[in-house]
Amino acid sequence: MQRKYDYRRVKANRPYTVETLAELYGVKRTTVRDWIKKHGLANAIIDEKRPMLLKGVLIRLWMKDWQARRKSTCGEREIYCVACQRPQKIKPGTFRIHTSNTEKITVQGVCYGCNRTLNRFDVKANQAVLERHFSANHQMLEEALIEQNSKGLAPRNDYVQHRKNR
Ligand SMILES: [Zn+2]
Repeated sequence: MQRKYDYRRVKANRPYTVETLAELYGVKRTTVRDWIKKHGLANAIIDEKRPMLLKGVLIRLWMKDWQARRKSTCGEREIYCVACQRPQKIKPGTFRIHTSNTEKITVQGVCYGCNRTLNRFDVKANQAVLERHFSANHQMLEEALIEQNSKGLAPRNDYVQHRKNR
């Protein structure tokens, strides 16, 4: 069974090193480094110098998001929505990737279920794949809507809005 980490143990207003974070959760430093390299904790880095510093409030955000994702695995084209409490598809035309000069990226989109903006932390190495998956999703949704229209069904408001904005 997957171990559950309580994000509330991290103090929002203090910085953590790999070492102090490993101590806090009783895990190996290599585990924390894996979180950084493979699971998106890199988004919490505020100082890359040694010792590397991670911001408490960002660790908490990441931990919550990561564990939610772990619990119910997101499909390739989905982002976990805390409000809907499940992985959700995102609305056509709302997919964005924010990059920085480090290895981290944030995938963003508007939840198909509740209109909230969703964030998924990831790493640059996955960017091309994510772009492919999410734009394929975009196309599929558009095609489904066009088909609906051709059957004489009224288009959804948000779809009309989306076409107007383009
Ligand atoms: Zn939602």
